[in-house]
Amino acid sequence: MTTQSDQVQRAAGLLDSASRIAIACHLGPDPDAIGSLLGLGLAMQERGKTVHLLTDGPIPRSVQWLPSVDQIRLKPLTDEPVDLFVALDSSDPERLGEVGQPLIANDELTTLVIDHHATNTEFGDVNLITVEAAATAEQIVYVLDALQHAISQPVAECLLAAFIGDTVGFSVSSVTPLTMRIAARLMEAGAALHEISDRILNIRTLDEIRLWGIGMANTHLEQGVLWSVITEEERRDNGLMDTSRSRLSNTLLCVPEAYVAVSFAANSDGEIDVSMRARPGYDVGSIAYELGGGGHTLAAGCTLKGPMEEVVRRVVTMLKQETTDAVRDS
Ligand code: 5GP
Ligand code: MN
Repeated sequence: MTTQSDQVQRAAGLLDSASRIAIACHLGPDPDAIGSLLGLGLAMQERGKTVHLLTDGPIPRSVQWLPSVDQIRLKPLTDEPVDLFVALDSSDPERLGEVGQPLIANDELTTLVIDHHATNTEFGDVNLITVEAAATAEQIVYVLDALQHAISQPVAECLLAAFIGDTVGFSVSSVTPLTMRIAARLMEAGAALHEISDRILNIRTLDEIRLWGIGMANTHLEQGVLWSVITEEERRDNGLMDTSRSRLSNTLLCVPEAYVAVSFAANSDGEIDVSMRARPGYDVGSIAYELGGGGHTLAAGCTLKGPMEEVVRRVVTMLKQETTDAVRDS
């Protein structure tokens, strides 16, 4: 049987023996994706490796201040030689976007997948996937420990930002005493919890709070399913050009009558971003997976083609089924 620590050792071995490493995280990256990308990338640079950091982007404002963020490349590599490809926080190869495709297609290249999504398809040659990990960054810490690599301040800042993003400030059910011990180590290495939390969780652009206002005003509650809709017209009429997900769904779950919450937001590509959250005991991960997306049991998402009314009807029907089934099972 392959244990998690075997996989950590294997991952560490691959990183140790490679000298030119390409690392990519998912498109539409969140703080865990960018924080893990930079945290692992900077640590490998500290070990003397040549590192290429890749994502399709866009890099969210909340992490644009992270150390060395300007090293991240938003275009695929061309002829740069690479001997290891690391895919981070991505449950399937498509999720890596354009920057990942030439690397995935190269059969000669070893791929290491590091992730914590239950919906991961294990597309690597070596897969370090721990569903219990609160963030992909947690796995990066295990790998750096296996390499006996001391965590520097810049690496700690990136990794703490990743944790804060995926755990909403260490407040969700995936957080364990071990998560808190790792967070304490990152703070000891020089990462400022309060400051980073403020940047990731509190600071919002005016566009973003206006978008939230629209979403908040447009909410519906039926059978324990709370949903909000931001249409293309609303986006346009308000001059809201921000392409990032509205991240409303976390907030919507504050309503006690809601067991699951979902936000539907038209994006600038003419598609609809669907972001789902569930209370413990309910599962939105499998629903997102069925819809071609992915995620975790309690936080998942997908992107669907309109029209909006049809997408809303389809997803809400599935979620109502989930609240009914879960109640029946309990
Ligand atoms: P959020 O709602 O914050 O955008 O995403 C919640 C979780 O679901 C994150 O772990 C994110 O990576 C995952 N997720 C969101 N959208 C997609 C998607 O379109 N495809 C996949 N595979 N995962 C997604
Ligand atoms: Mn993550």
